[in-house]
Amino acid sequence: MTRRTWAAAGEVDLAKQRFVMPPDLVRLARETKGFMPDDEGIALYRAGCMAAAIANDRPAVMMEIGAWCGKSTVYLGAAAMGTGGVLFSLDHHRGSEEQQHGWDHFDEEVVDPATGRIDTLSCWRRTIELAGLENCVVGIVGDSPTVARYWTTPLDMCFVDGGHSANAAWADFKGWEPLVRTGGLLAVHDVFPDPQDGGRPPYEIYCAAIELGSWEDYDMVGSLRVLKRIN
Ligand code: MG
Repeated sequence: MTRRTWAAAGEVDLAKQRFVMPPDLVRLARETKGFMPDDEGIALYRAGCMAAAIANDRPAVMMEIGAWCGKSTVYLGAAAMGTGGVLFSLDHHRGSEEQQHGWDHFDEEVVDPATGRIDTLSCWRRTIELAGLENCVVGIVGDSPTVARYWTTPLDMCFVDGGHSANAAWADFKGWEPLVRTGGLLAVHDVFPDPQDGGRPPYEIYCAAIELGSWEDYDMVGSLRVLKRIN
């Protein structure tokens, strides 16, 4: 397939670059099953492009924690494709706590009839294939803290949108936050300052990042918060 690039990352003029996501990928992302509102998805795409621009003279390395059926993967993957970077997309594909039988976000369509267990891997894979992103998106199937423990490549961007229980969110934060290099971006989804709007753990890890003194607010759209590492 043809790689769509607007410029080598080092040639990107940050002030002028508007980062327009290819319309066919916007359409596909919007049609894909998932929990990412359109405007937050575009903000995520923009953050991925900015991370690549900040990476400057080398391909950006991005990590997505929690992929479900690939909706956010298309937004971030489009940024990887457009900038010549690579996106690693990590998920055990068994669904988070809140997606299991009897919970709010349960979806019968992603249950494997042979086992009765959730399995979103085939759906995710189909999404990436349809998007033409197989060249720049690498799926990792497994447990986030385990992968983080053995991961050594500094990240230009990390998007945290895995399990929203306290245990899962804090494990993702503790495992991946240290792996984002100085100047890199950390995005957290489902950050709701008002408890009436949603669960606390993503908001708590966002606050914890700010309290570390190593991060500053970079962008904010809906419940998406993007932070930049300053030291
Ligand atoms: Mg989310």
